[in-house]
Amino acid sequence: MLSQEETGKLKIGLEIHVQLTNLRTKLFCPCPSDYRGKKPNENVCPICLGLPGTLPQVNKRAVESAIAVCLAFGAKVQPYVVFSRKNYFYPDMNKNYQITQYDKAGGTTIGVGGYVTISLDGERKKIPLRRIQIEEDPGRLVHVEKNGVRKTYIDYNRAGIALVEIVTEPAMHQPREARMVLEKVQTTLEHLGVLDPSFEGSMRCDANISYAGGARIEIKNISSFKEVEQALRFEQLRLEYLPKIESTVTKRWGEKEGITATSREKEMEEDYRYFPEPDIPPIIIDEEIIEKIRKNLPELPDDRIERLVREYGISERLASIIVSEKPIADFFEKTVKILNEPEDVAHWLMNEVVRRWRECGIDYRYSRFKPENLAKLIRMVKEGVITTRIAKQVLWEIVPTGEDVEEYVKRTGLRIIRDPEELSPVIAKFLDDNPRLIKEAFENERVLDYICGEVQKRLQGRADPIILRKEIERLIGEKMKNA
Ligand code: ZN
Ligand code: MN
Repeated sequence: MLSQEETGKLKIGLEIHVQLTNLRTKLFCPCPSDYRGKKPNENVCPICLGLPGTLPQVNKRAVESAIAVCLAFGAKVQPYVVFSRKNYFYPDMNKNYQITQYDKAGGTTIGVGGYVTISLDGERKKIPLRRIQIEEDPGRLVHVEKNGVRKTYIDYNRAGIALVEIVTEPAMHQPREARMVLEKVQTTLEHLGVLDPSFEGSMRCDANISYAGGARIEIKNISSFKEVEQALRFEQLRLEYLPKIESTVTKRWGEKEGITATSREKEMEEDYRYFPEPDIPPIIIDEEIIEKIRKNLPELPDDRIERLVREYGISERLASIIVSEKPIADFFEKTVKILNEPEDVAHWLMNEVVRRWRECGIDYRYSRFKPENLAKLIRMVKEGVITTRIAKQVLWEIVPTGEDVEEYVKRTGLRIIRDPEELSPVIAKFLDDNPRLIKEAFENERVLDYICGEVQKRLQGRADPIILRKEIERLIGEKMKNA
């Protein structure tokens, strides 16, 4: 096993592929970009099929979106950008090369440098970026098994979709930092308006992990942030217990099995025979365009976190958690606009609503449960119409359905009971069932607590606790007198 000092040198880097889902067409042709749910090979043309003699034409909005991405992460936008060919054979890569960008062999990437800020144990940490590049998505292999025969089909609908690839330096030292970087990248791109993360497969990630001087392990194509963290933890443990036994390898993360498996020997960069793409002229990006895009940038997560702290007086830690997902931040602000109780809103939203959304697998962006309803529920708790316990129970039911909280409470009769006359028959019935408790409660406060709890249970927690206690005391006193 490695020493403490050596484990300090764990290095993790990420290559994050993001589809620019704001674009209506592909990167080099006018084919529509909405391939999800389409018939296979419907969104294709000679250009994205890579037929000989066709010429790619760069989508201007893709370049503008990529510039915005660079600016959002503080990367330097390059004034002179060329595309490069990355040569390799794979069935989903119909031209036998991918049009991408490369920072060597005469190439440039659109962005250089920059950083992603994460909040680690209350401290801000900047993870430096190496580069940001534009490239095309390959097609998709579809594996089908029919009557025991396995076949693989190729769907080129995705071929040519515009991607931005964000490459970090290997500057993360723990798997959970990688997860935080991914969350921050996602929320930043969603704030920018270039990514809708609810589109399946719109953000994919390769991770590499190594100890200084040791073998570098690359894990390919992991879809969820949680899986990235788990795959990295797995490799971290393996590297610590079995250090330096292999050269650089590429691995695949098996979500079901929870382990990584070697998929192939890693190609070296020189295997790709990068060279400048001869069919696309260099793109000149002047300061004016950059400044215009910079001026139109929307509010980004770091600014939003600061504003939430300033405007609502919540802690930076809480603000970062809220902003880590744009739909949550939007929901929070909409609710606070209706009910100006930021702490309460944050509490109920994060602890109850988000938890329920996750449990039901609901995409927050399309939730039926709305800010108006949460504001109403918190107000009902504050005004003593329902208890906190009941409110949690109510949320559990209405978050998936979106039913109006007032209507739900009316329909189910979950209002707080304050009228002693409504309470006394239930108390009397309990005391009749447990006559021996009457005298004990008269002498022992804890038995009284017990009775309060039991009666409250029979009332599904709806009784006002103070009025309930008084009424129980009154009835016990009466029964003692009569006894
Ligand atoms: Zn096309
Ligand atoms: Mn790539």
